[in-house]
Amino acid sequence: IFGAIAMAPRDPILGITEAFNADTNPAKINLGVGVYYDDNGKVPLLECVRKAEAMLMEQPAPRTYLPIEGLGTYDKAVQELVFGADSPVIQEKRAITVQALGGTGALKIGADFLKRFSPGSSVYISDPSWENHRALFESAGFTVKNYAYYDPATHGVNFEGMLADLRNMPEGAIVVLHACCHNPTGADLSAEQWGEVIAAVQQNGLIPFLDMAYQGFGSGIAEDGAVVRRFVEAGGPLLVSNSFSKSFSLYGERVGALSVVLSSAEEAARVLSQLKRVVRTNYSNPPVHGGKVVATVLSTPELRQLWEDELAGMRVRIKEMREQLVTKLAEKAPRRDFGFVRQQVGMFSYSGLTKEQVGKLREESIYAVDTGRICVAAMNSKNIDRVVDAIAKVL
Ligand code: PMP
Repeated sequence: IFGAIAMAPRDPILGITEAFNADTNPAKINLGVGVYYDDNGKVPLLECVRKAEAMLMEQPAPRTYLPIEGLGTYDKAVQELVFGADSPVIQEKRAITVQALGGTGALKIGADFLKRFSPGSSVYISDPSWENHRALFESAGFTVKNYAYYDPATHGVNFEGMLADLRNMPEGAIVVLHACCHNPTGADLSAEQWGEVIAAVQQNGLIPFLDMAYQGFGSGIAEDGAVVRRFVEAGGPLLVSNSFSKSFSLYGERVGALSVVLSSAEEAARVLSQLKRVVRTNYSNPPVHGGKVVATVLSTPELRQLWEDELAGMRVRIKEMREQLVTKLAEKAPRRDFGFVRQQVGMFSYSGLTKEQVGKLREESIYAVDTGRICVAAMNSKNIDRVVDAIAKVL
């Protein structure tokens, strides 16, 4: 069998990193990444994480297996964060949560579970979407289709198109929605638009799967989570994948979770038993460390406050970079209006640069995705002028 195996397609983003690593120019800049860098161009180790780890090291624990669904204190803390501590779905035990290997792992548990119980459904993802969404749901066996999302003319959401597509989806279709900080475009729905999306999901009997990989990077932890609560209030089943890769800067620890809201505690217990089966047959149970760190931070008031402050710091710095990019480009490239970058949220911006322009940026040792996606969080006070000069030049 091995002799006939073809090469798998290269990951487009990892390809950029490889080219970046091979570049010997000391002034090279990688805007192709999906990671938050601080103003010194470093991936931060959050102080709240450092302190939680110190606390855990004071009482080193044996490394037994976690339960299949993960650490109990972690799952509880996740539920309170995602749904709100006072959420009726927690009190009524209608929400279940399993610890997962990052947001990707959460999506995969959800995908495998859905394929088992709704094998004929199609999965709809935004056009464009995080590049792994399609591959992940296809590998779970689904047919994956797009719904309209980005409008290059406005650099915002093609909301009419999106709504029309939602209304045309067949009952039982699974619709993956970015809860906040849309990756790759940076274009989010307004609160009013979410209301219309929720109504369309309800009317058509769709299964919403909210992917929340950037809670706290948009407007705030509660603000970004508001959409989850609105779906809960509207009623109906709901799946939510969330990730702490970005919000805790814990990328390599693989900490995320899948939560599902059901109509009764009894239904929730049945669904949980099936999610555990998916986990058990894939990797048995999740790793301990990252979950313990996050649970410790979220449940220790002083560390929780520190985390919220540090997360706010990351959010504010990204906004500041957006602001500077717009102002500096207005000076250096006045013929093109980049004001839309201010409206976009989260780590990314669809900059409007063409594939050809991205190619020319590369000659300046500045790396971006061919689609024009740039990571705003990879810019800092030291490299932004070089980025602006290079963009002005390629325009
Ligand atoms: N969903 C989206 C929209 C993402 O951008 C990402 C991370 N880039 C993920 C899920 C996966 O998160 P994780 O790295 O925690 O697996």
